[in-house]
Amino acid sequence: MRNIILFGPPGAGKGTQSAKLIEKYNLVHISTGDLFRMHIKEQTELGKRVKNLLDEGILVPDSITIDMLEEEVTKNPQASGFIFDGFPRTVAQAEALDKFLASKSSTISKVVQLDVNENELKRRIAERQKVSGRADDEADKLIKRIDEYFTKTIHVVPYYEQQKKVKLVDGIGDIDFIFGEICHAIETVK
Ligand code: AMP
Repeated sequence: MRNIILFGPPGAGKGTQSAKLIEKYNLVHISTGDLFRMHIKEQTELGKRVKNLLDEGILVPDSITIDMLEEEVTKNPQASGFIFDGFPRTVAQAEALDKFLASKSSTISKVVQLDVNENELKRRIAERQKVSGRADDEADKLIKRIDEYFTKTIHVVPYYEQQKKVKLVDGIGDIDFIFGEICHAIETVK
């Protein structure tokens, strides 16, 4: 199994690159942000519980997020691997994911960290907001999301560095060039 974590702040290009990766490697894409948005759109119980958090750009509690993620993985028993996009976002989520995959005799293969500076993130999200209409893409909410990333999520990197699984890829430049770099990172053994 090939299980890849695509890691990076909001606006780093995780969604764009995931779409290309699933095609090339025949993987199942799991974006926890997309799943939450789907629950909100369908007005499920879960959707009602998390709507305000998403609107404000605040992380959903770990237990809720982990349960949803595990359910999604379990729904795809035939998958040859997964791309995790926007998960894990805390060390507790990373630990839970490791445990869960181990229970399925599987593991994370690589963590690709997309590196994009804060000014570029703000510029990209302002562009995206024009078409996405996402409330959390508005400037004040975006500041909260970037803050959540740099206070909580960034600690996931040393967690996987200890396991020697992290590959840093420059996320600024031509989309296809960045994709090539990601593929190279995924395919190199060390
Ligand atoms: P995203 O589309 O990945 O930027 O996620 C949008 C929002 O969904 C985030 O701002 C959080 O409110 C929530 N969310 C997505 N993934 C997670 C996660 N792994 N842990 C906690 N909250 C999450």
